[in-house]
Amino acid sequence: MTGATPERRAFHEFLARHRRFLLTTHINPDGDGLGSEVALALWLRASGREVAVLNDSPVPAAFEFLTALQAIQQFEPALAEQRFEQADALIVLDTSNRQRVGRLSPLFDRHVIPIAVVDHHVSHATGFGQVNVIEPEASATGEIVYDLIREAGTPITREIAEALYVALITDTGSFRFSNTDSHAHRMAADLLGHGLDPQRLHIQVSAHASAGRLRFFGEVLTRLEILEEGRLAVLEAAPEQFERHGLVGADTDGLVDMPRSIAGLEVVALFSEVEPGKVKVSLRSTGRVAIDQVCTRLGGGGHPHAAGVMLRGTRADARARILPELHKILAALEPAGRGSAA
Ligand code: 5GP
Ligand code: MN
Repeated sequence: MTGATPERRAFHEFLARHRRFLLTTHINPDGDGLGSEVALALWLRASGREVAVLNDSPVPAAFEFLTALQAIQQFEPALAEQRFEQADALIVLDTSNRQRVGRLSPLFDRHVIPIAVVDHHVSHATGFGQVNVIEPEASATGEIVYDLIREAGTPITREIAEALYVALITDTGSFRFSNTDSHAHRMAADLLGHGLDPQRLHIQVSAHASAGRLRFFGEVLTRLEILEEGRLAVLEAAPEQFERHGLVGADTDGLVDMPRSIAGLEVVALFSEVEPGKVKVSLRSTGRVAIDQVCTRLGGGGHPHAAGVMLRGTRADARARILPELHKILAALEPAGRGSAA
């Protein structure tokens, strides 16, 4: 959508200069990070390069099928050393924040490896690579990878199309979120033309809930709070609930999106105390207000309409830091229907 910018040209030159690539993405990877890794890996291999993929965190069950297309390894100190020694370039996908790559980050300095970043987050828009393709207007990192592949003239195979489709549906909420635009739909149409089965992919990505996860969602949703005259929904999950249902932080994926269906709602805040004293905050806007600054100021980040931050302390501490900020944002908003769209 952006055309061949200087940064994209620099990225293509970066690919041309190197032979053995290591790819990574952020901690607790999602379908965009993983789908982008797999698509890029398949593209690079088709261009005769060697590729390895190594992430800080494991691949969630929902995305395990992607590893049939490209092996994705999880961080282990000895393995990471080996991967960094073997590679002559590193590509970081779906984050431009060094801390978010987790335990791989300290190896960047020790191995003095050239780095390219491909991302669509606004919060760290300068990037830490020699090459930084950071395009906040892209709905998914996979959308940028798709553009890059087409610019390179490499054929899109069914496998590449599948990985990119997973990236796209993950970050657009299956074409429902405010970042969904004509480029995202055109890309989807093109990908479908390469023979992928959208229903099968949707089932593979979404049909991974355990009964415990649904009961956990049910418990948390029963205690849904509606504040700020119906504009703010607040959810809380306690460590005891994670433990009782045998879940981890990544299992809350999708929970924060559920209250979006409430009429008149502007913002959802989920406070997940994944372990005692560690609260993962997830914020969502239904489209009129931007909430990323609330998280960025506290050391987190994200997009105008989907952002997060990890906070130390109790859930009450986290609420005390977040809710007054949301109050200010919501108090400044015109009544629905009269305000301009964000
Ligand atoms: P989620 O609430 O689904 O975890 O994250 C929503 C968005 O905010 C994603 O784009 C994610 O990358 C970003 N995000 C979530 N947590 C953090 C964080 O701790 N730091 C930063 N920089 N971004 C985050
Ligand atoms: Mn993304």
